[in-house]
Amino acid sequence: MRSPVRAVYSLCMAESISAETSQLLTRTRSMLLDWYDSHKRDLPWRRTRDPYAVWVSETMLQQTRVETVIPYYERFLVRFPDVESLASAESEEVYALWTALGYYSRARNLQAAARVVVEEHGGRLPEEANALRGLQGVGRYTAGALASIAFDRPEPAVDGNVVRVLARLLGVRKDTGRKAVMDRFWQIAAELARGPRPGQLNQALMELGAMVCRPRSPVCQACPLEALCDAARVGDAEALPKKSKKKPPRPVQAVAGWIERRGRALVVQRPHGGLLGGMWELPGGGIEDGTGAEQALRHHLAQRLGLAVTHAEQVGEVEHVFTHRRLRLHVFRCGPVSGRVRRSDLASHRWLSPAGIAKLPHGGPTRKALALLGR
Ligand code: SF4
Repeated sequence: MRSPVRAVYSLCMAESISAETSQLLTRTRSMLLDWYDSHKRDLPWRRTRDPYAVWVSETMLQQTRVETVIPYYERFLVRFPDVESLASAESEEVYALWTALGYYSRARNLQAAARVVVEEHGGRLPEEANALRGLQGVGRYTAGALASIAFDRPEPAVDGNVVRVLARLLGVRKDTGRKAVMDRFWQIAAELARGPRPGQLNQALMELGAMVCRPRSPVCQACPLEALCDAARVGDAEALPKKSKKKPPRPVQAVAGWIERRGRALVVQRPHGGLLGGMWELPGGGIEDGTGAEQALRHHLAQRLGLAVTHAEQVGEVEHVFTHRRLRLHVFRCGPVSGRVRRSDLASHRWLSPAGIAKLPHGGPTRKALALLGR
């Protein structure tokens, strides 16, 4: 039997909303907001309505756990308390405060967007979701979260937690990897946000997903929506949302070399833009099929830097998984180096002490390579 809530929600997108649907929406909103008021976690970004602070928190929270974000968020706001201070900062200082949160592109985009906010919007974030989406790094979710939380705009913000709650509540058993299914979630979330306190309503949905309607072992008996929930009625909550398996990441291989001269080692900065754009790493590059690791290293040193080394000893390998790629990085320690650096495609290079290298912004593969080298 189809649950009444599912039937009523399916009417949400009709041209005019019936009295019954409207009542159900009102009831759902009010149950969510009451629960949120008494159960929400006390998180630092919930103590402010400063749009800039909300923006920083939403950017840091993308792909990173709340507990990890808290100290970074607090330090970041002490050093960059407003959009002007972030816009005028040296990028390397911004990256340094982002270290270990990973995904440096978020920091790069945040600062680029802060500069646009200062130069084109007089230092004030736009209030409309559409205008926010014009900023670098601000996608549909972040725009909706910012517009609703910071400016009380009735905008939806659908993240993984919200998808899980809605899929279970409404008994959506279709593949959430399909665009049509996701569009439906956005439409329903938009209907829910068209009521009082839209920012808190969005946060209530996310908080419910994080704390109660968890991926494994949802605590339905503690859920304010249990009486309405289709998955709780059917008993298949843990199986939802359904998502078809992603393609496994493509395996790729690369080399990196530790080259030391007079107590300082060579590091290079990747071109800006693209994967790990602007990050610092040990010199090297990708391995073409059929090429040996040492041969690839010597080739990259010559082609990208105009350098040659006498010895190259492989220390080991590290592995790092990106969203679409699984990287195996062969790490070398290299002997005497000859030649003067002549960069081709790299943004910059430096000879630095190990302590100096550790301070530069670098990605996961370089962090692992340095650990393997004992640096
Ligand atoms: Fe999730 Fe259970 Fe609440 Fe349904 S009743 S929304 S499955 S926690």
